[in-house]
Amino acid sequence: MPTAKKLVVVVPFLNEADNLPVLYDRVIKVMTGQPEELQILFVDDGSTDSSTQWVQNQAATASRVRLLRLSRNFGHQIAITAGLDHADGDAVVVMDADLQDPPEVIPDLLAKWRDGYEVVYAVRRSRAGETWLKKSLAVCFYKFFRALAKVNVPMNAGDFRLLDRSVVEALRQMREAHRYMRAMTSWVGFSQCAVEYDRPARFAGETKYPAWKSLRLAIDGITSFSAAPLRWVSGFGAGVSILGVLWLVNILWGKIQNPAGPVPGWTSVIAAVLIFSGAQMISIGLLGQYISRIFEESKKRPLYILRKK
Ligand code: UDP
Ligand code: MG
Repeated sequence: MPTAKKLVVVVPFLNEADNLPVLYDRVIKVMTGQPEELQILFVDDGSTDSSTQWVQNQAATASRVRLLRLSRNFGHQIAITAGLDHADGDAVVVMDADLQDPPEVIPDLLAKWRDGYEVVYAVRRSRAGETWLKKSLAVCFYKFFRALAKVNVPMNAGDFRLLDRSVVEALRQMREAHRYMRAMTSWVGFSQCAVEYDRPARFAGETKYPAWKSLRLAIDGITSFSAAPLRWVSGFGAGVSILGVLWLVNILWGKIQNPAGPVPGWTSVIAAVLIFSGAQMISIGLLGQYISRIFEESKKRPLYILRKK
């Protein structure tokens, strides 16, 4: 008899004590009866509540539970990376700890994987408990990102997905410091397909992704996948310069026509100075974004530090 294939469920968590036990029970429940052997790899992203203790107790008694502790809070994307680096399954599922990624979808992901797909991402048919604004901003962002980065990131999909071992190995080779995992999994290629589900609201606790963190993730995604904003800024600068020259020609021409005419207004000069010095600072800031990425990469620091396995 061939040995059973192994599924590793990677769960990054930050202070999710009220969610982990429920998540664990539900994962165990949906996986009973599935042919794959199960392991749950919890990645503790610097939790300060009792969740670490809970996983430790669980890992002491159940061999299919493993805990990976990061030495501090490194962020969700890095926690996923640490999980993938240590997940030795034939297939790996990445899911949030707050039950917004329902464990009941795992069998559907597995079914597609058994059909031969190497990336099966879960797409949100609906999203409960999220504001209208967040949802529309997400749609706009993904459209923009796809056009810009020329990476086929699926709409309405987060990091909840199944990855074949070959994809995990490909991702392990990508050691960039600013990580936008869902675009990276699209970038690696392989055969990919979607499974739909209804995204519930968070089971317990507060979101760890306030608006500013989501915005940072979006900016990270864009600047690590595309240099197009730099081209736009150059284009904008060229356009402004041409307009400036035309304006100058216009003024000189007026002066030749009417040497005694009125001196052009200072208000417009000040307005132009303020607007364009602002635009220049924005451009410099944008340039800085890219330079700081070079700086981060050149340090070659490890992406995370482990406390213990
Ligand atoms: N998370 C993490 N590190 C962080 C922030 C979040 O590991 O710095 C985990 C969190 O515990 C959860 C998942 O990442 O399992 C998604 O976070 P959250 O549910 O707060 O984000 P949202 O679903 O609101 O976007
Ligand atoms: Mg959530």
